[in-house]
Amino acid sequence: MTVPAIVAENVWWICVVAWFLLRLPHHIRAWKEPVRSSHRDWADWTVLTIMVMTNGLIPFVYVVAKVPAFANYRFVDAFAWLGSAVFLAALYLFYRTHRDLGRNWSMSLEIREQHRLVSDGVYTHVRHPMYLAFILWGVAQTLLLPNWIAGPAGLAGALMLYLFRFPREERMMVQEFGEQYRAYMQRTARIVPWIH
Ligand code: SAH
Repeated sequence: MTVPAIVAENVWWICVVAWFLLRLPHHIRAWKEPVRSSHRDWADWTVLTIMVMTNGLIPFVYVVAKVPAFANYRFVDAFAWLGSAVFLAALYLFYRTHRDLGRNWSMSLEIREQHRLVSDGVYTHVRHPMYLAFILWGVAQTLLLPNWIAGPAGLAGALMLYLFRFPREERMMVQEFGEQYRAYMQRTARIVPWIH
């Protein structure tokens, strides 16, 4: 294995661990934060479970055992640095989304007792920066792991989460915040800044 390939797979797991450590305090707090209405259902749970596979289990098995072997390809050295940069950017964005959403965050689709519409910070320009962070994780994983399955799996999982969630989430937010959310939608992009 070349040095950049070793760097790449270590960057992958270090960033994944950092991601969960960043989220942990929010999980603990969210547990105690009263919920007014929940739109959590089996479909949402299924999507989250698939993501645990595509962004956790499948790439983890690849990193420790290099399987599925038929899907391995020769590592491109430049991808190590590019993938690391993308993962760091994703982590930073993930940190910012949690800081801005604060107590309004839920792992699933929920409205808190004291829910407030956040439209500042990273929510000024896009409505789904956290899903964007997950998509960037997927891009980084594709660059860092030279395996046609374990690499792109993360991107497929993140895109699935985004495409499944955003229509439901926006419907829920319109139901809850009405004109205020509609006006927010008018002035923001869904996921790519300035592309409405
Ligand atoms: N889609 C957002 C948030 C993901 S977390 C993003 O990608 O950044 C999902 C939860 O965040 C939902 O249950 C919803 O209650 C809450 N939420 C989403 N957008 C919000 C906003 N602008 N202000 C407050 N809460 C929001």
